[in-house]
Amino acid sequence: MSRRRQVYEGKAKILYEGPEPGTLIQYFKDDAIAFNAQKRGTISGKGVLNNRISEHLFTLLGQIGVPTHFIRRLNMREQLIRQVEIIPIEVVVRNVAAGTLSTRLGIEEGTQLPRTIIEYYYKDDALGDPMIADEHIACFGWASQEEMNDIADMAVRVNDFLCGLFAAIGIRLVDFKLEFGRLWENDYARTILADEISPDGCRLWDMRTNEKLDKDRFRRDLGGEAEAYQEVARRLGLLPEGENIVLDLDQHRQKKGR
Ligand code: UDP
Repeated sequence: MSRRRQVYEGKAKILYEGPEPGTLIQYFKDDAIAFNAQKRGTISGKGVLNNRISEHLFTLLGQIGVPTHFIRRLNMREQLIRQVEIIPIEVVVRNVAAGTLSTRLGIEEGTQLPRTIIEYYYKDDALGDPMIADEHIACFGWASQEEMNDIADMAVRVNDFLCGLFAAIGIRLVDFKLEFGRLWENDYARTILADEISPDGCRLWDMRTNEKLDKDRFRRDLGGEAEAYQEVARRLGLLPEGENIVLDLDQHRQKKGR
């Protein structure tokens, strides 16, 4: 690896200084972490797949007018992005009951919600990302009212677009998490979509079989997580027929004697 300056290391990604001011390089790791870092592992090839999947989805979202931090993919595991100031709020959009919504409110997993729910969580690992309301965001100044309006509007647009996109390839978009950032232009900050959209932060169920094609395979010890991520990439048309990133990587490792 190069001697670039590391700006930040998160659970699934590393950020390096970019080639020009205002840019960063986002590197996708194979590390998988769940339950606020209580469960750790690796999913072979995940970083490569998430880089491709996120590139694809952010590019399409850009084309329908959702501003994003994505500039271009650089290589298998890296993409060039715009540097933003991350707004410390995780935005969760839900179409179907699952995960914490089901456990917290006792609603059976898989129940179609009569309307889409948007929830906010305060991004703070030490506090375990607690759920918050608009009132907390306003009270503690985590985002302005204008930013929250933009975020809610974009979350709905992203959801409508992705629901259709995934439905067309036989996948139900159950829920997902978004993060937004402030792009400073002189004294004015524009709110844009940041982070990533990949099976790490989405629940994706096969429409026919209800099979989980996302990080729940890891969280719930179901096995086959690499194959599930690969299946999502394949259905999105990102893997030429016959290409198998997981096996290819394994063969590559064996060749290198690792
Ligand atoms: N999610 C995420 N990061 C988090 C928490 C949730 O990406 O720190 C995603 C998760 O993958 C799911 C959605 O947000 O698609 C809703 O997650 P939930 O609140 O059900 O929590 P979980 O069961 O994932 O802990």
